[in-house]
Amino acid sequence: MTATEDPRRQATEWVELVEPGWSRVITLVGSNTKNIRVYPDGTWRFWHLCKVVDGTGIICAPALRLDGGHRVVTEDPLTIDPSILCPDCGAHGFVRDGRWVPA
Ligand SMILES: [Zn+2]
Repeated sequence: MTATEDPRRQATEWVELVEPGWSRVITLVGSNTKNIRVYPDGTWRFWHLCKVVDGTGIICAPALRLDGGHRVVTEDPLTIDPSILCPDCGAHGFVRDGRWVPA
């Protein structure tokens, strides 16, 4: 990854646009800018440093589609099927054996 591809190097501040109230954060080996947040209502979200707009970094967490799209195969270590894609920034990868694996 080059400097221009890494949003952390472009942002002067970060704004977190993530629904509060998660009960669990599952870290992913291989990325310190992405994790999975689990909410008491059963929602799972893909938390990540998403994009930079005019120097301001945006952190967002789109919900996984557990109602017919995604499936949590195992929770420990975490494996989710199929891949996760953020429609906003194009982040695309697999969560397998607790790791983030870029697609
Ligand atoms: Zn994104």
